Amino acid sequence: MPTRATKRGTERTPLERDCDVLICGASFAGLAVARELAETGAKVLLVDRYEIGERQTSACGIPTRWLEALELMGAHRQRFGELVIHSPHVTARYRLPWTFSTFDYRELCALLAGQGNFEFETAKVEGPPPAPAQATQVVRTDRGEIRAPLVVDALGWRRVLGHGDPIQPPDSYLSRGLEVHPQGSGDDLEIWIDRRYVPAGYGWSFPAGDELRIGVGSFEPRFHVKDPTVQLARDLEREPAGYQGNWIPHRIREATESEIFFVGDSAGHCLPLTAEGIRTAFYFGIACGRELADVVTGRQTRAAALARYGAFSAAHRQQFEWMLRVQRLIPRVPPRVLGPALTAMSAKRFVDWSFNHYLGLAHPAGVRLA
Ligand SMILES: Cc1cc2nc3c(=O)[nH]c(=O)nc-3n(C[C@H](O)[C@H](O)[C@H](O)COP(=O)(O)OP(=O)(O)OC[C@H]3O[C@@H](n4cnc5c(N)ncnc54)[C@H](O)[C@@H]3O)c2cc1C
Repeated sequence: MPTRATKRGTERTPLERDCDVLICGASFAGLAVARELAETGAKVLLVDRYEIGERQTSACGIPTRWLEALELMGAHRQRFGELVIHSPHVTARYRLPWTFSTFDYRELCALLAGQGNFEFETAKVEGPPPAPAQATQVVRTDRGEIRAPLVVDALGWRRVLGHGDPIQPPDSYLSRGLEVHPQGSGDDLEIWIDRRYVPAGYGWSFPAGDELRIGVGSFEPRFHVKDPTVQLARDLEREPAGYQGNWIPHRIREATESEIFFVGDSAGHCLPLTAEGIRTAFYFGIACGRELADVVTGRQTRAAALARYGAFSAAHRQQFEWMLRVQRLIPRVPPRVLGPALTAMSAKRFVDWSFNHYLGLAHPAGVRLA
C-alpha cells in the first residue's frame, strides 16, 4: 500500500532504468498486467504520474464475480441484485442474473498491487519510443529514460505511446463522464436515460457504503456534463461534492502498434454501450500479462506475443462495434417508445439472456480465472 503522496519538487530525482517489462500506467489495466508477471522472476517496473490508488478514475462499479475471481473482495463496498432504470415516463426494475458491486478504488489498487511483484516509480510518460522499434525500447519520462524490451501502454484514453495522430477531444471517439461523491447511502443501483440530463448517454447513482457516486456520461463529446451532474445530484437531494471526471474511449483500437502492447482504455477496451471499462481492463490486462510472461520465461518471442495478444483483442472487435451501433441507436428512440420498451425488456427471461450475454463479453472464465 503506498503511503507517500506523489513525489514532487526535489524529491523527483532523475530516473534512468533498465528492466525486462515496463508497464506505463498503474490503474486497473497496468496492475492486471503486473499481476500475471508476479511468478516469472522478471524485472518489472510500473510507472504512473500519481501514486498507486491516489486518483480515482471511475464510479468503481463491476460485476461482483470479477472481484471474487481476482480475490479483491477486501475492497468491496456494496452489492446489488437489481438495476433500476428511470426514463421520463417509466421506472423499470431489472432483476439481474448476477450481482453488481461497488468498491473502494484505493483499497482495490492496493490489493491488486499486492498480487504483483514489481518496482514502482512516479513519473510522467512523455511519448513513444522512436520508430522503428528496437530490441530494447527507450521510453521518455519527465524524470529520464527507461529501457525495456517489453513495453505496455496502460495509460488510459490518451494512448500516449501510440505513433498515430494524438487523440484530441472532442473530435475523437470519446465519451465524457463526470461524477460527484456526496456522503450518503442508498439501496439501489440506478440509471437515468432521460434527455433532461443528457441527449445521448445516461445518468447514474451508485451507492458505495457511506458515499454515493452520482454522475452523467455523454456519448456526444461536445455535450458538457457538469450542469446535468449538478442537476441530477440536486434532484436526488444531495450536495454535489468531490468532482471526478474523465474522457472515456468508446471505440476499440489496435491493441499492438510499433511493438508496444496497449491495454484498457488506451486500446479502447471500454464497452461502448455502458462505458464499463474496469472488468475489460482486467480481462485484456490478464491476457496481455500472460503473453508477456511467456516471453520473459523464454516460451515465445516478443513478435509472437504481439501477434497473439493483438489477435485476442481483435477477436472482440465485432462485439464492440455492435455495441457502438446500439449506443448510437438509443438516443434516436422517442421517449414515449423508450418507457414501454424498457418495461417489455424487464421480463425475467430477456434480462437473464441479455445480461448473461453482456457479462460474457469479458467474463472471468474468458481468461481462465475462477
Ligand atoms: C466518471 C466515470 C465513471 C466511470 N465509472 C465506471 C464504472 O463504474 N465501472 C466501469 O467499469 N468503468 C467506469 N468508467 C470507465 C473506467 O474508469 C475506465 O474504463 C477504466 O478506468 C480504464 O482503466 P485503465 O487502467 O485502462 O485506465 P485508467 O484507469 O484511466 O488509468 C490510467 C493510468 O495512467 C496514468 N497516466 C495517464 N497518463 C499518464 C502519463 N502521461 N504518465 C504517467 N501516468 C499516466 C493515470 O494516472 C492512471 O493511473 C468510468 C469512467 C468515468 C470517466
